[in-house]
Amino acid sequence: SLPVGFVGLGSMGYHMAGHMAKAHSRCTVWNRTQMKAAQHSKEFGSVHAEKLEELKSSQVLVFCLPTSEEDEAIVEQLAPHLPRGACVVSCTSGVPTVTKRLANSLHERFGLHFLDCPVSGGPLGAAAGSLTCMLGSDSPEAAEKALPVLQTFAQKVVRCGPSGAGHAVKAVNNALNVTHLMLGAEGLLALQQLGVDPSVALEAINGSSGRSLQTEQRLPQEVLTRRFGYGFKLPLMAKDCRIAAEVLETLPSSQLLSRSTQMVQEFAKEHGADADYTCVVKSIEKFAKTELR
Ligand code: NDP
Repeated sequence: SLPVGFVGLGSMGYHMAGHMAKAHSRCTVWNRTQMKAAQHSKEFGSVHAEKLEELKSSQVLVFCLPTSEEDEAIVEQLAPHLPRGACVVSCTSGVPTVTKRLANSLHERFGLHFLDCPVSGGPLGAAAGSLTCMLGSDSPEAAEKALPVLQTFAQKVVRCGPSGAGHAVKAVNNALNVTHLMLGAEGLLALQQLGVDPSVALEAINGSSGRSLQTEQRLPQEVLTRRFGYGFKLPLMAKDCRIAAEVLETLPSSQLLSRSTQMVQEFAKEHGADADYTCVVKSIEKFAKTELR
């Protein structure tokens, strides 16, 4: 089968690459912390690359790194070694303008396709192979080539438009995700202070029109339990909010999302580097001078 590769075996990438390795006999994986790649090779039968250049025969190469900065650093090291026509797919939640620039420049210099394909569904969705992908590509042929590889870990691949479109949709999606969470927390805090048990309030709301993924899952499972351990780091969410704010600031709008994305970036400074994104609720609780229980 087509030689494929994966870079970045983190909370998301480890499982995504696992699905790729199960479907492709030649799947090479590289990770900055080598131990994880060695473990991956044992668990899924992937080929553990010690050096980046060992990915050089990949026809489809998937990245799942923290930000566009790591995307750019790694792709610049690899690009001269890759075959012309190869597809590098960024599942990183990246910056649309950086992605567009990289896509143009890699195509011009090396004949490579750089596609944006951020994912949604969290570590559990990655493990289940049920992620949603938001694909941006200037080349329909490159999208066709990458599609079967993406479908090994995605249940749904939505073609969002040209280069950068996938990353733009992802940024807005995440801004909505965390805004719904903060709105839900603020509403529940008010109700709790009026004497309503938050779980009772959620029971009513989740049978009503105010419900969201946050009221149905994150608030009961991560907040009311005080677990705050969904598996998506707050600094990464703050990064997504910064990207969303950049996308929004160029356009006329009511500022609602701009304000909430700004709040998330401020709240991220109050928590540690490993804090889960659901910790934004702790910052909302400070205003109410009480905790949700
Ligand atoms: P993690 O922090 O768990 O993993 C990050 C990965 O990137 C690791 O493999 C890490 O290597 C590698 N890495 C970090 N810095 C560098 C570097 N300078 N050079 C090379 N490799 C590096 O992140 P996630 O898996 O949670 O997230 C990855 C991307 O997916 C992010 O853009 C995030 O926003 C997005 N995302 C995350 C979701 C989630 O729920 N977690 C959901 C949807 C999207 P090492 O092992 O050495 O640290």
